Amino acid sequence: MPSYHIITYGCQMNEHDSENIAGLLEAMGYEHTPDSSKADVVVMNTCSIRENADKRFFGSLGQFKKYKKTNKDFIMCVCGCMPQQPRIIEKIKESFSWVDILFGTQTIGEFPKLLSERIRTGRKQISIIDNSPDIPEVIESKRMFRHKALVNITYGCNNFCTYCIVPYTRGREKSRSLKDVVCEIRRLAEDGVKEVMLLGQNVNSFRDSEGNRFADLIKAVDEIEGIERIRFMTSHPKDISDELIDCYRTCSSLCNNIHLPVQAGSDSLLKRMNRHYTRAQYLEKVAKLREVSPDITISTDIIVGFPGETDEDFEDTLSLVKEVRYDSAFTFIYSPREGTPAAEFEDQIPERLQHERFDRLVDAINEISLEKNQAYVGREVEVLVEGISRNNDKALSGRTDDFKLVNFTSEAPLDEEMIGKAVKVRITDAKTFSLDGVITE
Ligand code: SF4
Repeated sequence: MPSYHIITYGCQMNEHDSENIAGLLEAMGYEHTPDSSKADVVVMNTCSIRENADKRFFGSLGQFKKYKKTNKDFIMCVCGCMPQQPRIIEKIKESFSWVDILFGTQTIGEFPKLLSERIRTGRKQISIIDNSPDIPEVIESKRMFRHKALVNITYGCNNFCTYCIVPYTRGREKSRSLKDVVCEIRRLAEDGVKEVMLLGQNVNSFRDSEGNRFADLIKAVDEIEGIERIRFMTSHPKDISDELIDCYRTCSSLCNNIHLPVQAGSDSLLKRMNRHYTRAQYLEKVAKLREVSPDITISTDIIVGFPGETDEDFEDTLSLVKEVRYDSAFTFIYSPREGTPAAEFEDQIPERLQHERFDRLVDAINEISLEKNQAYVGREVEVLVEGISRNNDKALSGRTDDFKLVNFTSEAPLDEEMIGKAVKVRITDAKTFSLDGVITE
């Protein structure tokens, strides 16, 4: 049986795209191999967000050329955000002409056709449609987890934050219809899925052709039998509506957690980033969320060292972190992305200063995360089991409703059958990024 291997970089949208690609390959008779050197087909699903994305991408891609020597039928495929950029396609054609197949984020459904044509004709195949007006078809994906699933609800982004390449690579925002999303989730629930993550670059601006908004979708998914947990990613603070906030009160399956990227705590930086909200407006949304759900956990994204960031701007970010008291945060040092407005800003911040500020910010966040986690010690929490703990193969790990990662042991032998089940765990210790506990039920 021919085999495949997929390498995934980037966000959960990319992870879900990889699940879809795996589903397509398995439908064609391929089987997964964890060892890329044994694969007949390798798919590299790329991301252009990270620092030095181009350099890293071409560096990693170069390593696969040698497989062509050991396996004359080896097929190399590249998809995701990188080949959505014309300059990247040019460079692949010029310097990596041994790559066999290129396709875009909107044309994953074309992949089986491209692959069979490549096998039949031996010719290189390309299908990139940037900014397609159509919603891609739903693909029978190969889920990473039996009990939880990623579900796309919007594609693309209209926001044009000045540092971000996504609107140029994933195109204009499009929403699926509420009915289609609900049908897909019903099928998933029948297949044993208990938890869904609704995905989009900005899920809050979901609006289908019948005028349904994101809060309507949450309420509809909340009605689906078998779905116990609803999560979503990512939220743009400017588009969080009061109706959505109220769902934390009315929808029992909506998890008590939100990822609300702030990016910076100073109004002047938020303006330069083109974020369309002020510090005060952001804090107002947080206050409303906590009014409806006082113990909601909140995580965020923050960029440090954005062009023009002054000492005062950075202090504003630090003070916002202390005011909100995030449960966790993804922190990034700004680095320019070619093709974005911020890459052309003249007042770039020296690296040394970026790193100094970054370290101070991370220390402040970690201190708060640890304090917040310590408040769980002694409590009994419900954990949906996800698998063997990464740190200790004698323990299992899972997430609470409010997205805390819990590693736990039990006196009885641990059983993989528990994966996907809800168990009660008493928390015995708190770390910055996780909790430890013992199963009680
Ligand atoms: S909202 Fe801003 S940061 Fe998020 S994908 Fe759109 S442009 Fe990028």
